[in-house]
Amino acid sequence: MSKSFQSIKGMNDILPDNSPTWHYLEQCLREMTNSYGYSEIRMPIVENTQLFCRSIGEVTDIVEKEMYTFTDKGDDSLTLRPEGTASCVRAGIQHGLLYNQQQRLWYMGPMFRRERPQKGRYRQFYQFGIETFGFNGPDIDAEIIALSARLWKRIGLENVELQLNSLGSNQAREAYKEKLVVYFESNIDQLDEDSQRRLKSNPLRILDTKNPAMKDVVSNAPKLMEHLDLESKLHFELLCNKLDALGISYVINSNLVRGLDYYNRTVFEWVTTELGAQGTICAGGRYDGLVEQLGGQANFGCGFAMGMERIILLLEGQSGFKDKLSAKTDVYLCTLGEEAENSGLIIAEKLRSQLPSLKLQLHCGGGNFKKQLKKADKSGARIALILGEDEVKEQNVSVKFLREKSEQVTLAQSDIYHRIEGLLS
Ligand code: ATP
Ligand code: MG
Repeated sequence: MSKSFQSIKGMNDILPDNSPTWHYLEQCLREMTNSYGYSEIRMPIVENTQLFCRSIGEVTDIVEKEMYTFTDKGDDSLTLRPEGTASCVRAGIQHGLLYNQQQRLWYMGPMFRRERPQKGRYRQFYQFGIETFGFNGPDIDAEIIALSARLWKRIGLENVELQLNSLGSNQAREAYKEKLVVYFESNIDQLDEDSQRRLKSNPLRILDTKNPAMKDVVSNAPKLMEHLDLESKLHFELLCNKLDALGISYVINSNLVRGLDYYNRTVFEWVTTELGAQGTICAGGRYDGLVEQLGGQANFGCGFAMGMERIILLLEGQSGFKDKLSAKTDVYLCTLGEEAENSGLIIAEKLRSQLPSLKLQLHCGGGNFKKQLKKADKSGARIALILGEDEVKEQNVSVKFLREKSEQVTLAQSDIYHRIEGLLS
C-alpha cells in the first residue's frame, strides 16, 4: 500500500464534529452584519504579490517571512492572501466602490501565513473582517468596536479586553519615530537582535516586542500617545467618549502599534487571557492613506479582522457549548426490504418538500432494524419512522420515540405529512 497523504503543516481540515460550531459563529456574524447594514464582499484568494508589499509594508513580518509567493506559468508573481484588507481595497478601487462613496463591507474566508504553527496559530486560518470606507469621524470607529463587543456578548465570550491606542497622523508618527530611534540608540545594549534590526527598518515594532527582557526599556520609551497631532488627539478623545457612553470598557495601551504599516490614528485589539500567546482575537483600526496608496482616489478607511479559529477554540472551551447547538437530525427513517426502501425514499422526499427545515436522514446501506435504530440513536434524531414489510402492506408507518418514554405508534402513511410537526413538538 502506498503512503497516504497528510494535509500541509499548519493547514487544517475542519471536521464534521466541529463544523456546527463554525456554522454557529458564521450565522451570528451574518446576523450581526445584517443588523448594522453591512454588505458582503468576496475576493479571490490569490492576488498580485505587489499588492501586499505595497500595502502591508516591505519590512513587516508578513511580507518578509510569512507569504506564500509563487511564480505562475505566465511568469507573474502571485501570493496567497495573508489578510483581506489589501484585497478589499483593490476590489473597491477596481469596481468603483470607493470613489466619493461610503461603504460598509464584510468578508469571511481563509488567509495564509507561513508562521510556526501552534494552538491558535496556523498557516491557513480564517478571518472575518469588516472594512468601512468614506467615514472620517470617530463615529465609525465606535460603531465597528460596538459591533465586535456585541458579538462577544451574543456568543457568550467573557474575559475579553479591549486595548486601544492612536498612531496619530503620518507626520506626527514620523516625528515620534525619530525620537524613538534616538532613545533606543542610547539604550542599544538592552535591545535584542531582532529589535536592533528593526531599529533601522521599523522602529515602532520594537514597542510590540514579546521579549520579557526588554520590558523596562520599552516601558520607559517615549509614549506615542504624548506625541499625537491635535486632530488625532481630538479624534481619540471623541472615540473614548463614545465608548464610555456605550459602556464599553477599554484600556489604553500605548505600545499597541499593530504589525501592518497601513494603520493611522485609532488602532485596537480585543485580547483574551485564555489562549496564551495567541490571545488577540480581533484587531483593527483606521487606514486613511491606504486607498490612495493603492492607486485610488484618497478615501478614509476603518476596519478590523477577527481570527475565527481562536474564537472557535474559546467557544468549544465553554462547558456544555456543543450540547447547545441544535441536533443534526430530527427524523431518521428506517426501511426493511426493497419495497419499503422505495416507499421510504418517496416519503422522505415528500416530507422534505413539505417541511424544508425538517432535518431528515434516510437510512441507506441496508441491515436489520436493530442496526438501523442504533444509527438512528447516534444521529441525534428525536423520532425514527419505521417501514417494514407489514407497514408497506398496510400503507402505514410506525413512529418510535427515541428520546422519551412514549409507546411506539402506527399511523397511516397519508397522515404522516400533517402529523410530523406535532410528533416533534
Ligand atoms: P498575531 O500578533 O497573533 O500574530 P497579527 O497582528 O499578525 O496577530 P492581524 O494581521 O491583525 O494579526 O490579523 C487579525 C487577527 O487574525 C489576529 O488578531 C488573529 O486573531 C488572527 N490571526 C492572525 N494570524 C493568525 C494565524 N496565523 N492563525 C490564526 N489566526 C491568526
Ligand atoms: Mg502575526
